[in-house]
Amino acid sequence: MDKAAREALARAAGPANLDASKAGREAYSYDATGHRHPPEAVVRAVDTEQVARVLAACTAHRVPLVPRGAGSGLTGGALAVAGGVVLDMAGLSRIVEIRPADQVAVVEPGVVTADLQAAAEVRGMFYPPDPASVGFCTVGGNLAENAGGLRAVKYGVTRDYVLGITAVLPDGRVFTTGGANLKSVVGYDLTRLLVGSEGTLAVITRAVLRLLPLPEAKATVSAFFGRLDGAADGVRAVMASGIRPVACEFMDGPSLRAVESYAGLGLPEGAAAMILVEMDGPPEVVERQAGQAARLLAEAGGEPVHRAADRAEAERLWKARRAAGPALFGMAPAKLNEDVAVPLGSLAAMVERIHQVAERRGLDIPVFGHAGDGNLHVNILFDPAREGAEHQAHQAVSDIFAGVLKMGGTLSGEHGVGTAKLGYVGAELDPVALGLMRGIKQVFDPAGILNPHKSLPGPEVAA
Ligand SMILES: Cc1cc2nc3c(=O)[nH]c(=O)nc-3n(C[C@H](O)[C@H](O)[C@H](O)COP(=O)(O)OP(=O)(O)OC[C@H]3O[C@@H](n4cnc5c(N)ncnc54)[C@H](O)[C@@H]3O)c2cc1C
Repeated sequence: MDKAAREALARAAGPANLDASKAGREAYSYDATGHRHPPEAVVRAVDTEQVARVLAACTAHRVPLVPRGAGSGLTGGALAVAGGVVLDMAGLSRIVEIRPADQVAVVEPGVVTADLQAAAEVRGMFYPPDPASVGFCTVGGNLAENAGGLRAVKYGVTRDYVLGITAVLPDGRVFTTGGANLKSVVGYDLTRLLVGSEGTLAVITRAVLRLLPLPEAKATVSAFFGRLDGAADGVRAVMASGIRPVACEFMDGPSLRAVESYAGLGLPEGAAAMILVEMDGPPEVVERQAGQAARLLAEAGGEPVHRAADRAEAERLWKARRAAGPALFGMAPAKLNEDVAVPLGSLAAMVERIHQVAERRGLDIPVFGHAGDGNLHVNILFDPAREGAEHQAHQAVSDIFAGVLKMGGTLSGEHGVGTAKLGYVGAELDPVALGLMRGIKQVFDPAGILNPHKSLPGPEVAA
């Protein structure tokens, strides 16, 4: 960044909101991938008008800008891979209003997702999107990644709860899409386009989110399996039974052991898999469905199968599930996180294939994830100091992706492309559709300053 750009940026941001110190740049150099790319400067967002001025200055001086929420992304979306500025959105963190009569919340993007859930709950309302990172990720990051999470089986993903957005284009123009209407078909659906665009089209500064009434009752059933195929049968039976679980989560044996040594929760030893199922709704329906789910899991070979006695016990089980990602970080010096999703009927075959790849490549690849919607988190562990291990890990990714695409699956169910999967996007997307997407990027960001080299590969990478 040259002197003129730095001065323009300081004027646009307000000098107190611009940090080019080494410590500041280091603090914003990483995300949950563990990769590091220090930006040349960090700007703290304070309001929409300031964000607009900052973006206009970046476009005028051709300085790359990367929006950032909490930096919990697993695909490198918040990393300044081309240098330039990281725009920290965490300070824009007001829950502007919760309107139970309209069943909406109006929020700024830096709100931590769990804080929104809690604020809605106080008003008897429910914000369903529930990524396992809910305690620290932000709504802005969730919108940009179209985050999924544990309740997606019944309630869908972030996109299903976004009704309106205020955003800033790279040239500084502010625009709004949608509103607080539960239905609207006027014009192209730019709201849905922005959700999942990984901060490459516009910077979101406000959102109108849909809320639901809080469910009356919940029940959680856990089942441990001695054999993986039993767990797959259990998932299949629950999903085919007519029960619509809120969540149907899977952890394999290595993930369970990692969680146990990380959090010491007293999980049974030696299990090959665990299934966790949650139901919600009117108490009598929840009661009936919890009994039915427990019976089906036991018939599939679950032992023990247990219904949590109260919310505290249920929370302990969900804590185990949420700890799976962090626990695996400590199991090896390096880890590649993949986030594949396959049609439900192919889930068992996919897990089987991942285990075959692990064996062939001589790697540990624990798997856990959102079994009820076919979404598996594949954790390829390796020690870069061991000769050839890194190469084998990357080969394992290619093997797994090839299998996923063959089964009609997708390379990312919820974590996005970022930089991590850029090289594979061309293998999944229709080339005509990819061309249209590149055209859209060009319309929003002709100078190419907004989160460059993310989400969509350039023609050279796609080839
Ligand atoms: C332990 C753990 C568990 C996780 N579990 C899940 C899970 O269950 N489901 C799931 O979907 N994900 C999960 N994630 C991934 C991650 O938490 C999500 O992708 C989350 O949505 C990222 O939010 P963030 O605030 O950290 O965003 P960041 O990581 O800071 O940014 C993510 C992307 O959003 C863009 N962005 C951020 N704010 C804005 C904005 N205001 N306007 C435009 N673009 C913006 C950034 O440029 C970047 O491309 C998990 C991560 C961890 C570490």
